Amino acid sequence: MSLPNDVKASTIAAQAGGIIDTPSGGVVPPVQPSTTFVRDEGYALVNPDNIYSRDNSDIVRITENVLARLEGAEEALLFPAGMAAIAALFRTLPNGATVVVQSGIYWGTTKWLRDFSARREIALHEVDAADPEALAAACTAHTPGIVFIETPSNPWLKTVNIAHAAKCAHAAGGLLAVDSTAATPVLQKPLELGADIVMHSATKGINGHSDVLAGVLATAAPAAQIWTDIKTDRHDAGAVLGPFEAWLLLRGMRTLPLRVERMSANALKIARWLKAHPKVADVYYPGLESHPGHAVARTQMQGGFGCLLSFLVQGGAPEALAVVGKLKLFHRATSLGGVESLVEHRHTIEPHTGIPESLIRVSVGIEDANDLIADLSRALG
Ligand SMILES: *Cc1c(COP(=O)(O)O)cnc(C)c1O
Repeated sequence: MSLPNDVKASTIAAQAGGIIDTPSGGVVPPVQPSTTFVRDEGYALVNPDNIYSRDNSDIVRITENVLARLEGAEEALLFPAGMAAIAALFRTLPNGATVVVQSGIYWGTTKWLRDFSARREIALHEVDAADPEALAAACTAHTPGIVFIETPSNPWLKTVNIAHAAKCAHAAGGLLAVDSTAATPVLQKPLELGADIVMHSATKGINGHSDVLAGVLATAAPAAQIWTDIKTDRHDAGAVLGPFEAWLLLRGMRTLPLRVERMSANALKIARWLKAHPKVADVYYPGLESHPGHAVARTQMQGGFGCLLSFLVQGGAPEALAVVGKLKLFHRATSLGGVESLVEHRHTIEPHTGIPESLIRVSVGIEDANDLIADLSRALG
């Protein structure tokens, strides 16, 4: 790492943390696929950092260092999926522990956490964390070991005040973990606001090209017991990212600040346009002044409000599906944060979670905003 300490996110990302491959002079880091690393005649490791690739991989370390710098973290750990990162976090809890988790978040997290908590006799309390008083009351009543929030949330785009959530968790003797996937490390830095651990599905905006599955946890306090436990669990249980995925992720991250800037500008333009459309009943986007979380989002997000938005069309499921079916530029597919725009009818995927039948979720890409608006205009009209 040869970059000065004071450079900005776009410089860190564009130069992959300042890595030069010294043996070749390459400005791009190499991939080393070896699973095992050799010792010399005296049985000393040729490179003391590398023994076996379950825990030692130069390209994974380089990518983690770039992520840690972007996040304002001391350390970051990569996992083979966002869900593997979440599982590693919650596996540190003893049986019988207590957790407070935000309701109405990414369904995969809720489902896994419910199953896991039932198996491990963990008391799981789901609360609308965007309501500061409800969150404070849940922390006081239950004294959770971990408070887990997701902001902006997927697919409701609720905003949770991270600094307030950290105070609630800490006053109860617990830790705050934040799923910051929809914001990316470019727009939001939960650790600076008091969170203990920040999590991302790197599959989404961080990679940004819909071609790598990965997850990340990062902390400002690497000496904390929970971080030691997470590292040990990753090493011993083997939920590591492969070198090719880490390399692709780093390559995707070189344009992360640029992509996020463009997506956020596009998303805001589209959200405003949708808000004024007669066939749209409501728009959920924290960048809109009318959004209940806008004031909080403005203080804890910098440079934009992200690529994710949801809107309700007038009518129900048939009307929403008709709009989705007419779109030509938005791919009808799940996920978010890629350079290409995606659209989803969440009620078809998760009818049991109370998602409105008229809700359409959009991940806005880096295409021309007016092309995207023209597509939406055609589909709504
Ligand atoms: C996609 C997603 C996850 C899960 O990440 P995977 O990489 O798919 O395992 C967790 N949280 C949020 C907010 C997500 O969007």
